[in-house]
Amino acid sequence: MHSNDFIELEEKYGAHNYHPLPVVLAKGEGIYLWDVEGNKYYDFLSAYSAVNQGHCHPKIINVLIEQAKTLTLTSRAFYNNCLGPYEKYITEYFGYDKMLPMNSGAEADETALKLCRKWAYEKKGIPENEAKIIVCLGNFHGRTITVISMSNDPDSYKGFGPFTPGFVKIPYNDLTELEKALEDPTVAGFLVEPIQGEAGVMVPDEGYLKKAYEMCKAKNVLFIADEVQTGLCRTGKMLACDHEEIKPDIVILGKALSGGTMPISAVLADDEVMLVIKPGEHGSTFGGNPLASKVAVASLEVLKEENLADNAENMGKIFREEVGKIKSEMIELIRGKGLLNGIVIKPKNGKEAWDVCVKMKENGLLAKPTHKHIIRFAPPLVINEEQIREAVKIIEKSLKQVEES
Ligand code: PLP
Repeated sequence: MHSNDFIELEEKYGAHNYHPLPVVLAKGEGIYLWDVEGNKYYDFLSAYSAVNQGHCHPKIINVLIEQAKTLTLTSRAFYNNCLGPYEKYITEYFGYDKMLPMNSGAEADETALKLCRKWAYEKKGIPENEAKIIVCLGNFHGRTITVISMSNDPDSYKGFGPFTPGFVKIPYNDLTELEKALEDPTVAGFLVEPIQGEAGVMVPDEGYLKKAYEMCKAKNVLFIADEVQTGLCRTGKMLACDHEEIKPDIVILGKALSGGTMPISAVLADDEVMLVIKPGEHGSTFGGNPLASKVAVASLEVLKEENLADNAENMGKIFREEVGKIKSEMIELIRGKGLLNGIVIKPKNGKEAWDVCVKMKENGLLAKPTHKHIIRFAPPLVINEEQIREAVKIIEKSLKQVEES
């Protein structure tokens, strides 16, 4: 079978909820992917930052295989011999009292929202059903009904109402609006992405997160960081919040927690917040399963063993520097932190970010537009300098070809 055959199958039998680039991938290793015809590509998406450790990382895969042969799922009806050690490891790793395991990022976000509401009623004393959570315009926290209730992107929410109430939407990177919103005594939490990934790698001003955190503290409001995309070394620190040396009340992790092998997410908080949820009040059949527990520990170990935060920081600088040297009318702006970067594309002769991505694919590099005019560049964090430079050459060549076409 060829690429077109696989694409036709997806068209015919799959729901049309994605619009993929026309490439059919069959193999991955480190920073590279291969399609079914054997063509090799640089992966500059990393499955939306889920493959920070690189495709099929040998250590993670070995742990996965060994545990898969031993025990995969017991449910939380019983204890298993992997979850406790994982909980100890991850809470010590990030410095929190407790962790609650889930699967997808959206589920972990929902978990954080539930924790925040329960804390509001039990600890803060907000009257039942009146708690509000402040969120930011341009946010992306996933696709469930409650999560899209926080969105102001019509692609996310239109046609899916009625929505979950209890959210106050304010502009991102705007402390004045945050201050106003925090005046409401029924506000229980502020949920924020340290960098808005899906919105197009929107990096807030330096000091924004720290100030926002302090303002929340002053009002006894929980500061909740969605680090599903920005966490786990992607932006050059273990957590993007580390850039401003703040410790959120709740941290939400997902994606690279499994090195891209399976859906693993987690919520971290201290006892004062985490223990408001009691047995039977929240959970998931697969959350905290033995396989995921072992894989998550291995994935976290790799991040430290291979210094991936430092590498992301250093390679990100080189990437932005080199892209900055490209002479192309289609590059309006490059922004980002570590290896989470976005290039804003100015359309030329009717050619847009999508056309640039198609051309880059033909030249051996995979990336995807987020919204119409921004391309996100987020390779696995194991990339080296030579590879970064070669990738930038591909980007340059592709832009030139699109401009001249
Ligand atoms: N939160 C953020 C910041 C994300 O970027 C994403 C996915 O891109 C999610 C949550 C949702 O994660 P999932 O797709 O695993 O539900």
